Amino acid sequence: MKTLGLIGGLSWFSTSVYYRTINELIHQRMGGSHSAKLVLYSIDFEEFKLIQVKQDWDALEKMITDIALRLEGAGADCIVLCTNTPHIISDQLRLSIRTPLIHIAEETAKEIVKNKMSKVGLLGTKFTMERNFFKDKLAASGIETIIPDDDDREFIHNSIFTELTLGNFNPSTKKKYLDVIAKLEKNGAQGVICGCTEISLLINQSDCHITFYDTTEIHAIAAVDFALI
Ligand code: GLU
Repeated sequence: MKTLGLIGGLSWFSTSVYYRTINELIHQRMGGSHSAKLVLYSIDFEEFKLIQVKQDWDALEKMITDIALRLEGAGADCIVLCTNTPHIISDQLRLSIRTPLIHIAEETAKEIVKNKMSKVGLLGTKFTMERNFFKDKLAASGIETIIPDDDDREFIHNSIFTELTLGNFNPSTKKKYLDVIAKLEKNGAQGVICGCTEISLLINQSDCHITFYDTTEIHAIAAVDFALI
């Protein structure tokens, strides 16, 4: 079994889901008392937020690259950046590390292709919805991405930072998310990508008519697949 290098804490609520999911899958697939071999570096979310609010992507790249190199030094055979938004610097990160980066958007694209879908909605931070780093990985697989309107994007972005990453999961926020997903469906989305690792702590497939792509789960499964190659 290979050793996974997890960069977490963004936020710790979703990192704990990664940790549990990866260990459960390793145990299911290997049996006995097996559990995952991994090294985890958990970032202080407040420090990360200060960088992200300033949109200082150079500082973000430096922070994430330094951590990835430390994980490699600690024996990691790959890097798993347990969150969507910081993948904004993933292309540069790949140039600086020697192990593979298991990319959350590339793994999500594979799932969408497997389901033969060509048009999906994307929810996440404003950076994830509005910039191209996630959508480009989908487009490379022939997938068209649609995003919510300005007001809905504002709502979703704010809810991530003022509620979800603080561990607050409110029924009224959930209802609003489901309204946004219904609008995406009306605009032709065959599925919706929860492109923020905390959204699946608020809603899940049973809440939605259309296919729900839970990036946390998809990414954790991809990490386990890599570990057991
Ligand atoms: N975990 C979230 C994501 O998947 C939001 C926190 C962040 O900005 O990284 O994008």
